[in-house]
Amino acid sequence: MNERLKRLENVRSRIEFACKNSGRDRSEVRLLAISKKHPPELIRAYFGLGQATFGENKAQEALRKLESLRDLAIEWHFVGPVQSNKTRDLAAHFDWVQSIDRVKVLNRLSAQRAEDAAPLNICLQVNIDREAQKSGLDPDMVAEMAERAAALPRLRLRGLMAIPRLTTDQVVARDSFRRLRELYEELRAAGYPLDTLSMGMSADLELAIEEGSTMVRIGTDLLGPRPA
Ligand SMILES: *Cc1c(COP(=O)(O)O)cnc(C)c1O
Repeated sequence: MNERLKRLENVRSRIEFACKNSGRDRSEVRLLAISKKHPPELIRAYFGLGQATFGENKAQEALRKLESLRDLAIEWHFVGPVQSNKTRDLAAHFDWVQSIDRVKVLNRLSAQRAEDAAPLNICLQVNIDREAQKSGLDPDMVAEMAERAAALPRLRLRGLMAIPRLTTDQVVARDSFRRLRELYEELRAAGYPLDTLSMGMSADLELAIEEGSTMVRIGTDLLGPRPA
């Protein structure tokens, strides 16, 4: 079996096992391949193996790759910091933007998404551990941003995304995921029709799934080490 297929099957079986372990249906968890820094040829190869959802974190790098992969029916997610001067490109070329934490970006994406395109799917990024250097909304600001997002045309608010604090302590990691899920459940209870809790990466996808993730974002363990 080739190396890529091996990685893909390994990640898929980890997801399946974590779902089983937590009594969840496998269909509740989507696999997003984070292809940042990898060349388009690698993305094309994984698409050939059945992986059709990819995420990028730098607009300029992403746009070049999207262009050379235009012939493939890939669902593209943007997961990196959003600069205001890149919103037009993101609105034009991406299916999802998961990393929204500013009103200005929200407004621009809504205004710039084409009328004849499907609404842009969005997630609010939450700085769940309130780390000083990290992007994302303070958890206390999420409800207000959700209200703004839901009121805008051309956007479809799907849920929340977070990159929790880096730790090898499973208790600490689980607690971050749990708090994000609670925020998500509060919004759903308030009536927002959310279906996406984007959390879990290579090192912690099992924990994230046990705590309710509906989308894991996997780079290294799926596509291999990133080129320098
Ligand atoms: C790079 C990245 C990932 C994937 O990280 P791995 O540890 O390589 O799986 C997930 N989410 C975001 C937002 C990223 O930037």
